[in-house]
Amino acid sequence: MQKIFAPFDGWCAPLDEVPDEVFAGRMLGDGLAIDPTSGVVLAPCDGEIATLPESAHAVSIRSPDGLEVLIHIGIDTVRLGGKGFDARVKPGARVQRGEELIRLDLDLVARGAKSLMTPIVITSDGAVMSNRRAPGPVRAGELLFEVDGAASRRPLSPQPPLSSPQSVARAERAVVVALLQGLHARPAALLARRAKGTAASVTLRAHGRATDARSVVGIMSLGVRRGDELLIQAEGEGAPLAVAEMFAALAEAERMDSAHVGVSIPAAATAATAATAAAGPAARRSAHPGELTGIRAVPGFAVGRATRIERREIEVSEPGCGELHEQEELERARANVRLRLERIRNAGGVERRQIIGAHLEFLDDPGLNDSANELIAAGKSAGFAWRGATRRSIATLQSLDDSRLRERADDLLDIEAHVLLALAGEARPLHLPLPEQAILLADDLLPSELTALDRRRLAAIALSGGGATSHVAILAAAMEIPMLIGIGPLLREVPDGQTIIVDADKGTLHEAPSADAVAQAKTLVAARLARSAALRAAAVEECRSLDGTRVEVFANLGSTADALAAVENGAEGCGLLRTEFLFIDRATAPTEDEQLTAYQSIADALGGRPLILRMMDVGGDKPLLYLPLPPEPNPALGMRGVRTALSHPDLMRTQLRAAMCVRPQGIVRLLIPMVTDVSEIAAVRKVIDDIGAELNLQGRISLGAMIETPAAALTAAALLREVDFLSIGSNDLTQYTLAMDRGHTDLARRTDALHPAVLQLIAAAASAGKVAGKLVAVCGGVAADLTAVPILLGFGVRELSVVPAAIPALKSRIRSLRMADCEKLAQSCLGLPSAAEVRSMVERSAGEGGGRK
Ligand code: PEP
Ligand code: MG
Repeated sequence: MQKIFAPFDGWCAPLDEVPDEVFAGRMLGDGLAIDPTSGVVLAPCDGEIATLPESAHAVSIRSPDGLEVLIHIGIDTVRLGGKGFDARVKPGARVQRGEELIRLDLDLVARGAKSLMTPIVITSDGAVMSNRRAPGPVRAGELLFEVDGAASRRPLSPQPPLSSPQSVARAERAVVVALLQGLHARPAALLARRAKGTAASVTLRAHGRATDARSVVGIMSLGVRRGDELLIQAEGEGAPLAVAEMFAALAEAERMDSAHVGVSIPAAATAATAATAAAGPAARRSAHPGELTGIRAVPGFAVGRATRIERREIEVSEPGCGELHEQEELERARANVRLRLERIRNAGGVERRQIIGAHLEFLDDPGLNDSANELIAAGKSAGFAWRGATRRSIATLQSLDDSRLRERADDLLDIEAHVLLALAGEARPLHLPLPEQAILLADDLLPSELTALDRRRLAAIALSGGGATSHVAILAAAMEIPMLIGIGPLLREVPDGQTIIVDADKGTLHEAPSADAVAQAKTLVAARLARSAALRAAAVEECRSLDGTRVEVFANLGSTADALAAVENGAEGCGLLRTEFLFIDRATAPTEDEQLTAYQSIADALGGRPLILRMMDVGGDKPLLYLPLPPEPNPALGMRGVRTALSHPDLMRTQLRAAMCVRPQGIVRLLIPMVTDVSEIAAVRKVIDDIGAELNLQGRISLGAMIETPAAALTAAALLREVDFLSIGSNDLTQYTLAMDRGHTDLARRTDALHPAVLQLIAAAASAGKVAGKLVAVCGGVAADLTAVPILLGFGVRELSVVPAAIPALKSRIRSLRMADCEKLAQSCLGLPSAAEVRSMVERSAGEGGGRK
């Protein structure tokens, strides 16, 4: 019989009270929990330290008769990365009951953890507990429970060891995957990243296949879909902890999944994907002669020359020149590609960062690298081995019954080509030559092939295959290149150099248009181009309505590349920097210096124009990898925006300090997201004032609140007493007013910010601004809706912030409006019963000359 004693003072509770399904469900074993009140963890029995991760957030002890006791200090404390924990012993050390194991800073840990509740569990299989302590206060060293020693000697799992016969510990659990899309790239990356952080080796099994959990490709290749069973097996030091980590990663991925995070896919294309997959690459000729049909991936219209880029098969020799040499070659090539990809990633917007970030994961994928190294060890060259390894993974992905996973094969082909070229001492050229007005035809296109093309010469893309959720479609949308996919093999018959017309809006490609049709198409394109060139040229001028009222047009940004594009398009500043996007693919929180570098680079790109920097807006539809939040029944109504920031004061402080260090001083204004009442503003203001004093800053930084909740809109007057300006986030304001999820596909048409209820809230905030004499801006999507513009101006809004590409058309629209008409129009819209009626009223008024010149 082994006695287990309390490792610290606190409140003893059953495991059911631990806010974590892994412990509460006794997946790691039975035991008790303590909510600690003292900061020293003492050995609960004599034994040897079996596990003590570097983060020191947990420790396990093996008693002389083989029983293993795990003390997991708090919940979700691994993410603290050791902050607040100080290990006083080393793994393998022999300790006596009551000896000091870890010291913790209770305050710091409590602030960073989901809960301090500490499970103390017996991870050895078959343990029978008795004499369990009743819930209530407990002092360190008092008896918690007794365990039957005979049972405890049995190994954790009855199966044979996974790989090493001397394995010290094993754990395994099965789980049913609830992820909507199964184990696709994003959750696979999350699991792999967590697996890399554990000391134990973790294997995942499903459908009779197995993979090292550190391999993203391997995990995707399991083909796990929603409802499938996944077996998690860990072996070696800290095996139970590793299983818990995998559970936590899956739960985290589920939260991200349900929050629809990620780059958006054009709705029409998404709906069409299933059709493409089902129909296969069938020929598609429309009823009109000379017209091929496809699926719109990116809208637009173009006329130009059919152009094929040659995809050169890269030659590799099979035999190698010695294992060591080939391994070094592969290492060198991977290092070159890594540098190059990092450069490409940093030069793009959010979409590019996410996609190239995934390629970087593939490059370091242990599954791919192990498989390449095996081939090298068998005498093959580095190139042959790398190709063999990637093709093996591609074959597996392509055999899966899941279009999203099949599309990831393109990403692997891309990374294969990068490495093979680097091995040959070449690099993928940053720009491939194209004729003027090229319409690129291909069976498919890789992301790096697209980013290597000269955007100015590329009029459109047409693919015989392709997927709407492919990364290349997402990149094309971000680059605003019209794109048609799924045209089928007939596309191959279109001769190179032929003049063709792509109407992606209608989903057609004219393979042999008549001279008249070409002339008409050219006139149309020229007119569109001339209009956009004129708009662009005019956009650099400041913007006034017809009657001379000044309206500022700012840009919403997520990167330095966005800032450069914004200035080119005539932005007068940044009205919303979504700072959470800057570090969205990071596994660890960015330091103050890293944040300052990013913010300063954006401020520099803006060339002295104001920069409204929004404090991190995490939670709800914007989860962050480095800040896993506890599962919530309704994340949109839970820990979001400023609520999350206030519950993570260290992260908030670091960000505010970085923002306040941007030079020149005064260029940055701060914006608080998801405000519901003045207390939130006061709490942020206090931190800002403290930092201002620390940094010896002169004057107070300008502070604004976002109006994204009905509560904020209705109490705008009170908020304005605490802040210098308001900015209306119509995306969230609409979702909370209409009770319609902003990411819900079926409700997308009805989630309209021109619903009179939303307009009434916008009007209330704008009118409070007028009374207080303070600026009320709009930075949500409605600001770029040309129908909405006269209404917003009519309410008194004088600053609009939109995506950079929308600025020229927006300025042109404002210049056509007369304020008196806008005010009249805005008032009449308030009384209408629906968004549809608001829209038709604006259209009618434009026809009658009201609201528009
Ligand atoms: C909004 O909600 O309108 C807004 C601008 O914030 P985000 O879209 O980043 O949530
Ligand atoms: Mg918002």
